[in-house]
Amino acid sequence: MKYVAIYARISRDDLSDEEMKLSREKVLSLSKIKDRIKTLTTEFEENREPDWILENVYWDIESGYSSEREDLIKMFNKVERGLINVVFIKEIGRVARDPLISIPLINLAEAQKIELYSLRLGKYETKTRQMWMFDVFYNDAEYHMTKDRYKIETLSKAKQGFKLTGVPLGYKMIDKIPIVQEKEADIVKEMFQLALKGESLNNIAKKHNMGYTTVKQILMNKTYIGINVYGKYIYFQGKRIKTNDDIIEVPGNWESIIDHDTFYSVQEIIEKRSFKKIRITDNEKYLLGGVVFCYCGWKLYGTTLRNNQYYVCSNKKICRCKMKRADVLEKEVIKKIEDEISNLDHDVYDPNSKIRIRLNQLLNDNIKLENDKNDLAHKFIKVKNNDFMIDKILEEQSKIDNSILSNTEEIKRLQYILSSEQATENKKDILKKVIDFYYEKDRIKLKKLLQLAIEVRFENNYRFEIYFL
Ligand SMILES: [Zn+2]
Repeated sequence: MKYVAIYARISRDDLSDEEMKLSREKVLSLSKIKDRIKTLTTEFEENREPDWILENVYWDIESGYSSEREDLIKMFNKVERGLINVVFIKEIGRVARDPLISIPLINLAEAQKIELYSLRLGKYETKTRQMWMFDVFYNDAEYHMTKDRYKIETLSKAKQGFKLTGVPLGYKMIDKIPIVQEKEADIVKEMFQLALKGESLNNIAKKHNMGYTTVKQILMNKTYIGINVYGKYIYFQGKRIKTNDDIIEVPGNWESIIDHDTFYSVQEIIEKRSFKKIRITDNEKYLLGGVVFCYCGWKLYGTTLRNNQYYVCSNKKICRCKMKRADVLEKEVIKKIEDEISNLDHDVYDPNSKIRIRLNQLLNDNIKLENDKNDLAHKFIKVKNNDFMIDKILEEQSKIDNSILSNTEEIKRLQYILSSEQATENKKDILKKVIDFYYEKDRIKLKKLLQLAIEVRFENNYRFEIYFL
């Protein structure tokens, strides 16, 4: 007995956009898909050999060139375990558009693990390999040819002013031309007017119950001034495909909603605002992202130029500072941190440190002064009726009080220095232990730690200081 698997590919072209969103079960219940699979099983029945038993029908939806094929993988697993002996397909070229999927199936047959049976070519045999391969590559070539033809056609249409992609709020696509929808267009006009008056994008978003990004996209969309922007991508069989062309702008074949002056004034406002925004990247490439400051006071952020990483000033439109090679700066910073840590000033731990000596002196002074104050209080009782002596004692007492007060203030200040230095020392200690480990093993973690612990401030183009937070 031979166990036979039927494999069917359902092309993206067979389903509408709505149907693409359905679950596998729902897709299978669509009558056109049922029919497709029924046809294949009928063809199987008509061609079956006496010892064939149907193991299962496997099917996947292929969207464009994607190879997420649940059932194909399931089927391959069963083949490997010897649970399937024959794979029945309509055409090898129909198994997948991608040769990387269909060729392994042929190779499995070649290795005799399974019999491959195609309706068009019959049973796979080594002597017919060329024909099978031809089917695979023909299908692949056809896909690319169709795609290229589609690209040329769509780009030439775009050149004539036809909109390639969807239309923004305010338009509706009717007979392939964006038509202004008055009610929505009024909303768009109002949004531009608000932006022109200086209203923040956030407030505009709140007012119209939209997301910030949506508002920004609307305010920057050249469709509203009748310009057709195209060229970077085309949409082919539900997939976005890079064209490797430049972005091209031509007059569109539709009506504007916003006039040029309003549109470009709003662009200026948006640009001015985003210019102030400091970009902090969370990329592990940039260990020091968010902790390095230019001598102009602005943060540096990480950027990649010709495959090298740099830190550049976020104030780059004004500041003339040099950009810094990321790997060089990072090594310097790490080394400086470690130097700093190994050169720890042990003053705070040292009982003979100047700060501690001064502190002890002040504490003793205050004890002495308190004693003097007590003595004066006793004297005060004795000289009850002598006004001259009373004045003298009161004067002395206020002198002592002032001394105690100023000593107490200095004590507080010194204790604060000691405790904050202690805290800094503790932080440095912990930092040193983890830096080496994370520098090699976990840069994102190290980055987070550095953000908590240090600031790197440049004093000029080359010199920087590290500050422990
Ligand atoms: Zn700067």
